[in-house]
Amino acid sequence: MSSRSFLLVPAGSHFPLENIPFGVFSVQGESSPPRGATRIGDTVIDLAALEQEGLLPGDSFRNATTLNRFIERGRAHWREIRKTLQQLFSAENERIRDNTELCARVCHDLSQVELHLPVTIGDYTDFYSSREHATNVGTMFRDPENALLPNWLHLPVGYNGRASSVVVSGTDVRRPSGQLKGDRESAPHFAPSRLFDFEIEMGCIIGKENPLGESLSVDEAVDAIFGMVLVNDWSARDIQKWEYVPLGPFLGKSMATSISPWIVTLDALEPFRTECPKQDPTPLPYLQPREHWTYDIELEAHLLPEGETQQTVIAKTNFRYLYWSIMQQVAHHTSNGCNLRVGDLLASGTISGPEPGSYGSLLELSWKGTKPLTLHSGETRTFLQDYDRLTITGFCSGEGTRIGFGEVSGRVLPAHP
Ligand code: MN
Repeated sequence: MSSRSFLLVPAGSHFPLENIPFGVFSVQGESSPPRGATRIGDTVIDLAALEQEGLLPGDSFRNATTLNRFIERGRAHWREIRKTLQQLFSAENERIRDNTELCARVCHDLSQVELHLPVTIGDYTDFYSSREHATNVGTMFRDPENALLPNWLHLPVGYNGRASSVVVSGTDVRRPSGQLKGDRESAPHFAPSRLFDFEIEMGCIIGKENPLGESLSVDEAVDAIFGMVLVNDWSARDIQKWEYVPLGPFLGKSMATSISPWIVTLDALEPFRTECPKQDPTPLPYLQPREHWTYDIELEAHLLPEGETQQTVIAKTNFRYLYWSIMQQVAHHTSNGCNLRVGDLLASGTISGPEPGSYGSLLELSWKGTKPLTLHSGETRTFLQDYDRLTITGFCSGEGTRIGFGEVSGRVLPAHP
């Protein structure tokens, strides 16, 4: 069933012909504006050029520096484009394969391109949908007996985040300064965050607008999702701890959120559907899909200190651990009539698993700083240090194929003096 491309797909690549993710690229050193792309192996394919050649139907990519116009065209169009690309680049199709000039114009080596934010993100929402994460945080900061707050098992808790500071993988992130107050201090002071952290998350890119005042049912919700990306939701725990009462996260979160450059469609993830965790108590009817599923996506976080060459795997978790599914998140988000728009980012919340090695943040991995992690270099970490590089990877594995997201990576720069 697996088909091959005439383009080289290295063993273990996240980007075989079955994937066909969507992103935005420009060629290093060229003045042409960013434009839509897909990726096969380590080859980045120019979708605007294919369109101009008449090889792709429609006009989604011409003169477009993000994917929003393409995504607005709807699911039938996404499917047609993805299928056309799989045919154009299959090993049997000579159209591009045997035309050296055309191939050179359309195909670029990954090392020669710059990847950009794939969509204009109007709004960014962050959920809190991992039961293990919410339990760990509740245990550390409140009461182990009542780690989950009373609403948690009844609704996917979330907050409206900041879209302007969502950045693409590879962007350095500056350690924020903010108000900090130690437990024994009587007043706060303003200083660089000392408890700077990452969060392993995944995000949905919205593909369909619901009109203001209209809800999407939990069964309609999947059709409103274009695809998914990896998310690192950087977090300043000390800023967050002092500021969050009573309205929730603010400056401890809004300095930066990093996403991976390739949006993997739900069609590509289809073979990796799996069951959701059992929900008890049964959610209210508007959160009960007729068919309920999630995806089996393995996630890893790697930490690379400055000057080192060997990164340390510090966490391994899986998207399927999430208690609240993406369809429940979308249904809940729109249940009050709030309109989601094409390009909106809905992040899952930190994804932690049941074992200590599967926790999705340093807050949990180091248990509030009480259990330092030892890296390959022999150094230890409780929270991120300046010039640490944190990389999250994610992929699905099945019978000989791997469909993946690549990575979301970012380096911590020192706070401004
Ligand atoms: Mn988060």
